[in-house]
Amino acid sequence: MNKLAAIGFAVAVMACSLSLSACDGGLKFDPDQAAYKQFSGERALSYVQAQTDIGVRGAGSEKLKKTQRYLQQVLEQWGWQVQAQVFKNKTPQGEVEFVNLRVRYAGSQPAADLWTRPVAGLVVSHYESKKFSEFEFVGANDPGSSVAVLLEMARVLAQRPEAAARIELVFFDGEEAFVDYSDTDGLYGSRYYAESLSQWSEKTRPQWGLLLDMVGDHDLAIRVPRDSPAPLVEKLFAAAEDAGLRKYFGMGSQRITDDHVPLNKAGVPTLDIIDMEYAYWHTPGDTVDKLSAESLETVGKVTLLMIEKYLLDKSEL
Ligand SMILES: [Zn+2]
Repeated sequence: MNKLAAIGFAVAVMACSLSLSACDGGLKFDPDQAAYKQFSGERALSYVQAQTDIGVRGAGSEKLKKTQRYLQQVLEQWGWQVQAQVFKNKTPQGEVEFVNLRVRYAGSQPAADLWTRPVAGLVVSHYESKKFSEFEFVGANDPGSSVAVLLEMARVLAQRPEAAARIELVFFDGEEAFVDYSDTDGLYGSRYYAESLSQWSEKTRPQWGLLLDMVGDHDLAIRVPRDSPAPLVEKLFAAAEDAGLRKYFGMGSQRITDDHVPLNKAGVPTLDIIDMEYAYWHTPGDTVDKLSAESLETVGKVTLLMIEKYLLDKSEL
C-alpha cells in the first residue's frame, strides 16, 4: 500500500466508524459468515419455556412487568439496549398502561445517537398474552414462540454487529383485543408505535418490517396474508427455497388483523409471517408441548437468511 492509499484507507476506516452508511462493504452477504446458520431451535424453545414459567402475562399485569425484566436482562447480556415506550390508552376495561420495548444493538459502547440513527428495518412481535377470565392462558405459541425467535435472532445477530446495528427489534404490548378488534380495541402497541414513526425524519424511517406471530406449531404452515407487500413475499420465499425449507411457506387466502397493519398504514411495508392454523389458538391448550424446536428453527433461519441475504445486503441508509 502506498502512502496515499494508506491515508485513504485510514480515512475510510474513520468514516466507517462514524457513519454506518460508509460501511456498506461490511454487509455483503457471505454464507460462511452469516448469522442464520447459528440459530438454534432448542435455545428458542427454552425462551418459550421461560415465558410460560412466568405465567399469564396480560397487558398491565405484574407478570408482564416480570416478562419485561426477563427480556431486558437476556438482551443486554448480548449487547442490545432496551428502551421502554410507555403510554396509556382507553380500553373496554378502562385505562391501561402499555409498554412497548424498542431494542437496538449497542455493542460494548452505546453510541449517543443509538435511538435516533437510521435503521434499515424492523423485526417485531407482540409479547403480552391474551387475558381470559374463564381459564388460565399461558400463550406458548401466541406470543411465546415469536418472542423466542426474536430473542434467538438477537443472540446470533450480536455475532454480526454491523448487521445487528441496522435493525430495530420491537416487542409490542396490547396486540390482543380486550373484547373485539376495532379501531379502538387491539393493536394498541403497534398503533402507538406507528404513530410515533411520524416524528422520525424521512431519512431515518425504516424501509421494511417483518412481523412474526404464532410460529412454533409442530405442524408448521406459514401462510402470509393475501394483501402482503409483494417484494417482501418474494424475498421470504426465495430465502425459504435457499434454505431447503420452501414447503413450510405459502400464500394465505385472507387478510389478517395483526400488528403489521398499522405499520403498513404508516408507510413501512411490513410482512406478517404467521401460521394461523393452530388447533390450540386462544385455548388453555396453548402450552409448550404443542411446539417444536424444529418449527422455531425453520422460521428463525429463513427469516434471518431473508434479512441477511435479501434485505440488508440491498438496503440503503
Ligand atoms: Zn392471539
